[in-house]
Amino acid sequence: MARLQIFQGMLLMNFNYLKVLVEQIHSAAIATIGSDGHPQTRIIDMMLYDEKGIYFLTAKGKTFYEQLMQQKFVALSATKDNMSISLRGKIKNIGAEKLNEIFKINTYMQKIYPNDTRRALEVFCLYEAQGEYFDISDPSHIVRDTIVIGTPEMQKSGYHVGSGCIGCKLCYSVCPQKCIDISQKPVVIDQNRCLHCGRCAEVCPKQVIEKWGKA
Ligand code: SF4
Ligand code: SF4
Repeated sequence: MARLQIFQGMLLMNFNYLKVLVEQIHSAAIATIGSDGHPQTRIIDMMLYDEKGIYFLTAKGKTFYEQLMQQKFVALSATKDNMSISLRGKIKNIGAEKLNEIFKINTYMQKIYPNDTRRALEVFCLYEAQGEYFDISDPSHIVRDTIVIGTPEMQKSGYHVGSGCIGCKLCYSVCPQKCIDISQKPVVIDQNRCLHCGRCAEVCPKQVIEKWGKA
C-alpha cells in the first residue's frame, strides 16, 4: 500500500512537471542530429500533455520532420522564470491525431495555419523519457528533481558517498549549497539540492564520493 502511494505520488509529481512545461514554459529547444552528424536545435512549442506524454507538432515539409521520423529520439530543454526542464527520450508520430485538440487549446495556431492548412502538420508524442526539473528561484536553496515519462531504462546520476567515509566534513565545507547531511556517517548528499558541481568529490581525502552516470 505504501509503495503504491509513493508510486502514485511520483506520477502526480511528473504530471505537475509536464503541466509546467506545457502551460507555463511552453516553448522548448529540441535537439536532433543533422545530416552532417552534428546536433541541431530549434524552438518548438509544447502543445499538450496527458498520461501518455508530451505532444508537439511540425510540418511535413521540414527537415526537422524528416529527422524526427528517422531518429525517433529527441533531447529538449526549456526555461522560464528561473525554472528549467530537460528531457531525453523516444518519440512517435501520431499523424493528425490530437491535431484539432491542439488547435483548440493553442488558439494562436489557428492564425498561423488558418482553415484546413493545418493538414501540412503532424503530431509527435514524447512517450518514453527521462529528465530533470531544476529551479533556482531561491539561489541558495536550489531544487532538482527527476522527471520520468513512460518506462525508460533509468539512467543513474548525481554524486553519492560510498563506504569508507571518515566523517571529516571537508566535503561539507566546500559545498556551495550545504546540501550534505553530516549528522551521519557516511555523510549523505541531498540529491534534490545538489548542483552536481563535483567540488566535494575533488576534496574528499578518502575519494569515496562517486559520480554516477552523466551527473
Ligand atoms: S556536487 Fe557540489 S553541490 Fe553537490 S554535494 Fe558535492 S559540492 Fe555540494
Ligand atoms: S570529505 Fe569524504 S571522508 Fe570526509 S566527510 Fe566527506 S565524504 Fe566523508
